[in-house]
Amino acid sequence: MTPEDAPLNETADDSPAIPGFEELGITGPVLKAIRDLGYETPSPIQAATIPTLLGGRDVVGMAQTGTGKTAAFALPVLERLDTAQKTPQALVLAPTRELALQVCEAFESYASKMKGVHVLPVYGGQGYGVQLSALRRGVHVVVGTPGRIMDHLAKGTLDLSELKYLVLDEADEMLKMGFAEDVEQILAQTPEEKQVALFSATMPAQIRRLAQKYLRDAEEITVKSKTATNTNITQRYLVVSYQQKVDALTRILEVENFDGMIIFVRTKNETETLAEKLRARGYSAAAINGDVPQVQRERSVNQLKDGKLDILVATDVAARGLDVERISHVVNFDIPTDTESYVHRIGRTGRAGRTGDAISFITPRERYLLGHIEKATRQQPTQMQLPTMEDVNTTRLARFDDAITAALGESERIEKFRDIIGHYVRNHDVPEADVAAALAVVAQGETPLLLDPANDALTAAVERDNRPRRDDRARPAREPRERRSRGDYTPYRIEIGRRHRVEPRQIVGALANEGGLGRDDFGAINIKPDFSIVELPANMDASVLDKLRDTRISGRLIEIKADRGAPGRRDGERRDRKPRHRN
Ligand code: AMP
Repeated sequence: MTPEDAPLNETADDSPAIPGFEELGITGPVLKAIRDLGYETPSPIQAATIPTLLGGRDVVGMAQTGTGKTAAFALPVLERLDTAQKTPQALVLAPTRELALQVCEAFESYASKMKGVHVLPVYGGQGYGVQLSALRRGVHVVVGTPGRIMDHLAKGTLDLSELKYLVLDEADEMLKMGFAEDVEQILAQTPEEKQVALFSATMPAQIRRLAQKYLRDAEEITVKSKTATNTNITQRYLVVSYQQKVDALTRILEVENFDGMIIFVRTKNETETLAEKLRARGYSAAAINGDVPQVQRERSVNQLKDGKLDILVATDVAARGLDVERISHVVNFDIPTDTESYVHRIGRTGRAGRTGDAISFITPRERYLLGHIEKATRQQPTQMQLPTMEDVNTTRLARFDDAITAALGESERIEKFRDIIGHYVRNHDVPEADVAAALAVVAQGETPLLLDPANDALTAAVERDNRPRRDDRARPAREPRERRSRGDYTPYRIEIGRRHRVEPRQIVGALANEGGLGRDDFGAINIKPDFSIVELPANMDASVLDKLRDTRISGRLIEIKADRGAPGRRDGERRDRKPRHRN
């Protein structure tokens, strides 16, 4: 028997194989905060990284979004934070403002039980005022994009002289966006004695060089994933935003022919809230998580076995080793932080030689995980469509028919009611079909039997999420990108050129960050000796151009303006067609 197949009463809650956050060295208010967030066990990257960072060593971690890497570096920083120090102690560099904001939010949630911890996002496109006043008041953690951090360093408004922790998040993305030089300059402007953690989804030579040059005796951490899945399990996925998950799930539950189901979520709190929502929608659902006492957990599992309960909403820990033949479906309401958990989760169905169904909800940002799942399971999950309202209605009508047929089978009870109905028909002179319809109204109550497909906002929203996005990094390379035609672009002049050793990717990186542009918003980039011409969307909003005006590249203000005279084309120089900035 493998550990995975261990019976439920041997769950690994207190198994030494999976240390808890406490054993990793997380204590006090930080531990309390993650408990309140409902994190039960550290993800593999957290289990490997947290003790190393707390021990003072540098770390190079191969990890992507969704693995829990943010907590892997944020928790050790907060654990050792000196709130009395007024100058920044930790700096996190991130490739985009979205990621910077996300990391800030994570830090704030992990620091929610600490007093007076200040975390500041610093990114392009935002006014300097807010950033400057916050820096003056004193912040402990700064999370920013390299370009804007460089600007603050150039202006002398960011004091890194007492920095203790530096994190490079999504390092490969930062380099792809042309921030290599900025990152190196920032690294060079920080104190010798500091701890550095570098996280990257891939390890190209350039990142290895960076790590060798700026990190000391770093521990390399890669979280390996195990392979092996049952081929009797059909894997499907639906791309759906977080906000639409509950509605999408309800629709799937209506249409899908399931027996027993286990729905996985990330946190303990979510098991409770989702189970509650499902009960409110008429399903017999219960939550199981590490906090639910063992006796109660076993009771729920037995109820699922006996058919008294149809759905269990669980965390990974609570469902470890669960072996219930009746489970026909596993739903990953949240996709797990590692493929090993994925494999274990879907293995809860298809037991005892039966077939099983696994349905995973994937947010648009998590699309890249599909590749990992395919590798780990050696099967390609198929994309599913959200059932439409018509599908739901067809199912509801079929169930309605079935219910009538089943009731007609109860001859004794039917016999008793037949007399009562006959009496009614005779006294009121109403056709029997009308009486049957009236009884259906009574049985149905206030809820309409059928949905109105004219009001199907959910299908439209999910379809939008399922359409490939222009700036979707996770899209398979073979899928053609949308290209604009030449007329869709307007040339802009920026005051930085070959003399300043600027490269196209630096321009793309800086403008994308400041203006919130996607990579495909860029047409040709023509680098001249003293300036450059960049093609940007012709229909670009004036507010975007406003934001771009303050952009600096390698410390130089670019002073972007529409290129009227196109002097670049008169000097006879060849137009370098910019390489499309594919990944
Ligand atoms: P990240 O890879 O840092 O973007 O994290 C992905 C998601 O996993 C975030 O929503 C985190 O809140 C969540 N998360 C991180 N660590 C854990 C954990 N140990 N248990 C449950 N959820 C986690």
